Amino acid sequence: MARVAIVTGGTRGIGRAISERLKADGFTVAANYGGNDAAAQAFSSETGIAVYKWDVGDFDACTAGVAKVEAELGPVDVVVNNAGITRDATLHKMTHAQWDEVIRTDLTSVFNMSRLVIEGMRARSYGRIINISSINGQKGQIGQTNYSAAKAGMIGFTKALAQEAASKGITVNVIAPGYVDTEMVAAVPEPVLQKIIGTIPVGRLGKAEEIARTVSFLAAEDAGFITGATLTVNGAQYIAG
Ligand code: NDP
Repeated sequence: MARVAIVTGGTRGIGRAISERLKADGFTVAANYGGNDAAAQAFSSETGIAVYKWDVGDFDACTAGVAKVEAELGPVDVVVNNAGITRDATLHKMTHAQWDEVIRTDLTSVFNMSRLVIEGMRARSYGRIINISSINGQKGQIGQTNYSAAKAGMIGFTKALAQEAASKGITVNVIAPGYVDTEMVAAVPEPVLQKIIGTIPVGRLGKAEEIARTVSFLAAEDAGFITGATLTVNGAQYIAG
């Protein structure tokens, strides 16, 4: 029987590419999303992938969402924690709400989703948890103390859980993408974006499919010896600057 994979924020941007790639790899995919029903319905009818709406920052909503996926599709073997938002401001202008929204959506969500699947994975002695962090969690970014903290937090979480879960056939890894051509990056002002592209040795933004390719690699059954790792997928931007 096909293994079941949940992709949070799996209906748009990088998550959409991940959902489609895992489906092509033979997984039964549940694509979660937060609020954009129109995008989710269009995605589902184009791809035939089931979509599930819940807020990944809300533990009770995640509990109900995972239970629904398991009831409809079966036990979850793969979770890709991809849903994320930005609420940028320099710290002296950042509101508590901007801080809190990013931490709950980008970091608490990783606890919520991992906590809800880990017992089942341990019981079945198999699992793949893949967390989508960011280059900005590795090096920090002006205007993103909230986002950089959340994305760096994912890396620490991953390293701890990888050790806890290793003996149970569960791998836990992080992918840290550089700048990828999605709506999130389209929100960056053009002059700032051009400056950023100038710092990427490959000379362009990444493609969502290139992140999905990396998820596919880590989600595979024969990737069982890769755990606690941070895979950088950034066109050499991190080492260059
Ligand atoms: P998009 O803004 O294009 O898509 C975000 C997805 O997350 C949407 O499906 C959205 O759902 C979902 N989402 C947002 N909030 C919630 C929530 N509370 N509950 C459930 N789902 C939610 O983002 P990207 O594809 O650009 O980014 C995906 C991930 O990759 C993020 O974690 C981001 O931080 C990370 N990343 C992105 C980079 C980039 O350059 N784009 C670079 C490095 C990391 P809905 O459609 O309902 O709004």
